[in-house]
Amino acid sequence: MANYAVDKVTGLKYNVDEWMIHCENRSIGECPICDEDVFIKADKSPKRSTHFSHYPHSSCPTIKENRKPFIDLPPSDIDEKNAIRLKKEFTENLYGIYLKCNSLADGIKFSVFRELILSFTQKNIWNYKGLTLKYIPYILLACREKFPTNESSFRKENVYFIFEPNMRYGDDLWNKPQKIKQKMWKVFLSNGDFEEFNISDEWIVEPYWFENTRSKIQDIIK
Ligand SMILES: [Zn+2]
Repeated sequence: MANYAVDKVTGLKYNVDEWMIHCENRSIGECPICDEDVFIKADKSPKRSTHFSHYPHSSCPTIKENRKPFIDLPPSDIDEKNAIRLKKEFTENLYGIYLKCNSLADGIKFSVFRELILSFTQKNIWNYKGLTLKYIPYILLACREKFPTNESSFRKENVYFIFEPNMRYGDDLWNKPQKIKQKMWKVFLSNGDFEEFNISDEWIVEPYWFENTRSKIQDIIK
């Protein structure tokens, strides 16, 4: 489901097609990422159909000029002992973490995976107070400015990854789970559409590009 809004009356999320069915008399919803109002915009451009649009001067990170990379957020405090433990745990789960990044980013080369870990390490995110393994694949993906289509045949759009924008410290993400949305969004660079992922500690996340293979296999074994 790319690009949707929250209906302020019911609190439910809808994409544009669902919105037309459930909220036909309302044209204003709320962006699930930045919480600003968004409105239904019927675009005349044949390239883009009706979609939710932010108002001018929005600070939503789906507008690429507004994006503030996660790795530029400082820690509220550091914990070097935790960093040592975490690196050990990370190494033990390395392939699972790779698979998860591979799935969320629609295919990721080993060299890119290493590059993400290098950026993460150069910014010393290992030391951020209270960090747990569960968050690392997501943070790794947020370490890179862009994942271009030409690096993977499964990736149909140039994308980047963001967390909710209202964080003062990087560790607010895991230290304030009641306040900070436990989600990550994959934003399409071309139009600001996005996909939402809940932050979870499952390493195996079946990507949409496995669906075809799944259904063919189901046909084989039926
Ligand atoms: Zn927004």
